[in-house]
Order: sequence, then structure tokens, then C-alpha cells
Amino acid sequence: MNMASYLIKPFLDQEYPIADYGKGIYLYDNEGKEYIDGSSGAVTASIGHGVLEIADVMKEQAKKVSFVYRSQFTSEPAEKLAEKLKDWAPGDVNWSFFVNSGSEATETALKVAIQYWQEKGKPSKIKILSRWMSYHGITLGALSMSGHVGRRARFTPLLEDFPSVNPPYCYRCPFHKTYPECQLMCAEELETTIRRIGADHIAAFIAEPIIGASGAAIVPPEGYYQRIRDICDKYEVLFIADEVMSGIGRTGKAFAINHWQVQPDMIAVGKGLTGGYAPLAATMISDRIMAPIESGSKLIMSGHTYSANPQSTAVGLAVLEYMEKHQLVKRSEKMGTLLLEKLHNLKQKYPIIGDVRGKGLLTGVEFVSNIFNKIPFASEVSVSKILIKKCMDKGLLVYPASAGIEGHGGDAVLIAPPLVIEKEQLEQLIKIFEEAVKELQIELQ
Ligand code: PLP
Repeated sequence: MNMASYLIKPFLDQEYPIADYGKGIYLYDNEGKEYIDGSSGAVTASIGHGVLEIADVMKEQAKKVSFVYRSQFTSEPAEKLAEKLKDWAPGDVNWSFFVNSGSEATETALKVAIQYWQEKGKPSKIKILSRWMSYHGITLGALSMSGHVGRRARFTPLLEDFPSVNPPYCYRCPFHKTYPECQLMCAEELETTIRRIGADHIAAFIAEPIIGASGAAIVPPEGYYQRIRDICDKYEVLFIADEVMSGIGRTGKAFAINHWQVQPDMIAVGKGLTGGYAPLAATMISDRIMAPIESGSKLIMSGHTYSANPQSTAVGLAVLEYMEKHQLVKRSEKMGTLLLEKLHNLKQKYPIIGDVRGKGLLTGVEFVSNIFNKIPFASEVSVSKILIKKCMDKGLLVYPASAGIEGHGGDAVLIAPPLVIEKEQLEQLIKIFEEAVKELQIELQ
């Protein structure tokens, strides 16, 4: 593997195995080593690897037409996928604007929110509020909305002053309160912030219904999103659900926001939309938001060369059909309950596990040096990095997530296997994870 390489990989001082092929929840490197894809890559490979039905669709579509430009042609797969997504999404979120990545999907939502208020004659509404401990993407607009301190750091002077409110992180409540006595101070903070800045300046509030990479599957307390929706309505602020990680069945519902029966104005989707078989994401927009654009400028000022690409949308359509055929949303709920139960059992056994959380097959494990006062490990110890390496050596992939108190360390991982995982495979995953946690705990003593 020590060959000269000019491919820029995430860490230039690290070696990466070369992926050879995948089957179901397993990946194999070119030396024949088997890995359980315990994080579906970056929470993407929802239907598992090597599904031949999808490969067939790709081949057939490539034979027909793999590219047309969106201002010259529409295509059957793009039309059909938009139609299908309409049935998956809650309420009147009926429209899809296709892009290529989650970052583009949230950034398009930002632009649509601003455009919506322009079309409604309120051009001063341009700020997007979001939460600290959030990740909405890497492009500058999406990063401006993201409260991921580490990813923002280098570019801070270029970013808009967007994130503003604290996350609903009950394990480490930013207000040092306990639910329900807290009376949802984290949600109330949105109202105070809107009042301070002035509703006339605020276009939208964006949130991951379940916080993924920046919090390791943080699930807000009951009533949180209902309160958020009420505040947004009161101050004419749009609510954008960023479901790039949590959407398309990952949490045991079609969209994670459905757990609270709250209606967003826009939804960003990506990742699981094609299960990783092709790059595709979408900004989904409600009838209410589209109405003034349809009767006004009639043009959404966004888009990319590869937007609504026939090849990618054919894959998206085939993946959603596959999920329906195999009832993978239901399966995510069922297997997720089992996974959480097993992770909670590990928490009882290993005091370095401070918290276990999540919904469906989007779960997180947070590590602490002291379970009673929840003190995180110092960042220099790199606990999650060591754990991830141990898991990988033993043939299990888990995903790094930030947690803890920003600037004071904090370690967590996401466990989010493909939704097709079987019970015995889940047991195999837990067995390897436990071995790694056990070793780590001994080393840290
Ligand atoms: N939004 C959320 C919630 C994400 O988790 C991610 C990626 O992890 C993004 C947006 C950005 O998506 P992409 O990496 O496809 O640009």
C-alpha cells in the first residue's frame, strides 16, 4: 500500500486501505480483509453494498442517456424521483430541486429562503439562524450556518455571523438544567435571539432534527420542535429541516422530523437518497414557499451543471423503490431499537461510556473520563481516534463525531450500519465494538 500517490486524502499522514468490493453490510479491501460497515461510510450506504438491481439500473440508464442539461431537458428519472419524494415527505413539502451534495442542498435552502422573502416584498429578511453543534455542509454558505467550531475555525473571518442558539443537548445541558424543569430553555432561546436581532432580518432557522456529526445522534426532548415551529410561525421565520444525514428512513421514520409530527417549510436530503451509488441530494420545498416564486420570478436562482442528472436520479428512484420493497424504514426502527438496547448494555459495563443515544439506526456513543461528573477526555488523548483505529483493525468501521464541550475536548462516535443489517450481523458488530471499548478502557486506566 506504500505506493506513491497524488490523491489528496483526508489526512495526508495516514494510510488508507484500498476498497475492493462490498456486499451487504460488508466491505473488503484489496488484501481480502473484511470490515463491517458500521457507519454506512458517512451514514450513506443505507441499502448496503453491491446491490445488483441498482447496478442494472445504472447500466440501463447510461445506455439510454446519462446526461442532459437541466435548462434544455428534463428527464423521466428526475420527474419520477421528484414524484416519489413528494410521497415520502411530510405535508406539503412537494417540490424537489436536485443538487449533488448535502452542502449544496442546505445552501440552496438558504438561497430559496432569502428569495422567498424577496418575492414576498420583505428583502431585509436575509439571516439564517442555526445552532452551535450542527453541521450543514462545507461550502461557505453552508459552513456559515454550521456551528461546528473545528470546521469553521480556518475560515471564520469569511463566514456570515449565523449560528446563534444552543443545541438541545440534554446530556450536557448548556443551561445546566434538567428536562422537563428546564421548560425547554434551548427552544426559548430561539425566541430571545429573534427578538434581539429583529425578525425583519431573519429568513429562516435551520436544524438537523437529530444532530449527527456534530453531536453524535443528539435527540431533542419532547416538545422541542413543536416549540421551535410555534416560534418560527410567530416571527415569520422559515423552518428548514436538514435531513441530509437523518432522512430517507435512517431513524426509523421516512424523515426524522416525523418523530415529532412537525411540518418544516423545506427539507434538505442527500446521503441515503442514493445510498451512495451516485452523488445526489435535494432541496425539498413546500407548496407554501414555492407559491410566491411560481407567481413571481418563476426561477430559483441556484443550480449546477449536474443538477437533476438522469443517471443520479435514476439511481435515487431505484434506491427508494428498493427501500419500499424491502420495508427498510420499518427495519431501521426495529433494528435500531435492538442496537440501542445493546449499546445501553455496554454502557452498564464500561464506565468510559457516558451516554448512548439516537433513533433508528442513527446512534451515538459519547465517552467520558468520569461518568459521574461527565468530564470529557482531553482532546490531546484522542480517545475517539484511538477507538476508531481499534475498531478498524478488528474489522469494524465507526464514524467520528464531535461531542462534549466545545474547546474542552469531547469524544463520540456514530454507529449507523446499513438498514439491511440482520440480527446476527448486529451482534457481530456489537461484539467487535465491545472488544475495542474494553481494550481502550484498560489502556486509559
Ligand atoms: N448536512 C448534514 C446534516 C450532514 O451530515 C452533512 C454531511 O455530513 C451535510 C449537510 C453535507 O453533506 P455533503 O457532505 O454531502 O456535502
